[in-house]
Amino acid sequence: MSSRSTHNIACPRCGFAQSAEIYDAVNVRDDPGLREELMANRLNQVVCEACGFRFRIDAPLLYHDPARRFLIWLQPAPESEADAAERAFRAAVERLQRARPDGGPQPVLHLVLDRIELVERIFLLEAGLDPRLIEYVKHAIFTKNLARLDPAQKRLLFNAQDSDAENLVFVVQDLASRKLETVIHYRREAYEALREMFDDDAETARLFELFPGPYLSARRLLRESAPPTADAAPESP
Ligand SMILES: [Zn+2]
Repeated sequence: MSSRSTHNIACPRCGFAQSAEIYDAVNVRDDPGLREELMANRLNQVVCEACGFRFRIDAPLLYHDPARRFLIWLQPAPESEADAAERAFRAAVERLQRARPDGGPQPVLHLVLDRIELVERIFLLEAGLDPRLIEYVKHAIFTKNLARLDPAQKRLLFNAQDSDAENLVFVVQDLASRKLETVIHYRREAYEALREMFDDDAETARLFELFPGPYLSARRLLRESAPPTADAAPESP
C-alpha cells in the first residue's frame, strides 16, 4: 500500500511555509503511476503556493514492487553517512518484519542513499541484474581506469535504456556538477562469466565479503580497501 504523510515545508526560494503531502511509501502494483512519477522526477514535488517555485522533497521512501518481490528503502544521506543510514535501515527492516504476517517468501530489501540510486536500482532489478555483481563490475571499471576515473569525484550509473543484449551501459556522473559525462560499455558476456564464476558458495561468500551491504558501493570499497584481484578482466571502455 502506498502512503503519504503531511510535512510542514518552507519554500527554498521565498521561505513561505506550507503543509504538503509527501509519499513515504510507494507500492507500484497498487499505484503504477507513482513509478512513472518517480522516474520523471515528479514524485514528492511541491509547488510553492506563494511564488510558484517547484522543488522536490527528499524524504525517506519505501519503494515496493510486490510482483518482482523487492523493496528499496531510500534513506537520503551523503555517502559519508552511509554507516548511519545502514543502522536506520536495519531498524526499519526489523519494524517491517515484525509487521509482516508469517509465511510467504520474504521480499529482498535494498538500501539506497539518493533518488538517482533509487532509479538505478529499480532499473537493475527490473532487468534481472544482481546489484552486488554490478557493484563488482563498477569496482573493476574504476580499478582499471583510476587515472581518469576518480571514485571520490565520479560515480558510475547503470543505464538501462541504452543497455542491450551485447552490452551493459554505464554513465559516468560527476558528483559535484551532477553532469553526465562518458559512457562506458561492459560486455554482457563478461557479466555472465562473472555470474557463473560467483555461482559457487565459496565465491558467493567472497562477493558478500567485498560488499556485505546493506549499502552496496564500489566507491566505498575503493576508499576502504585495496582492490580485489579480478579473475575476469573488465572490458576497456
Ligand atoms: Zn516560494
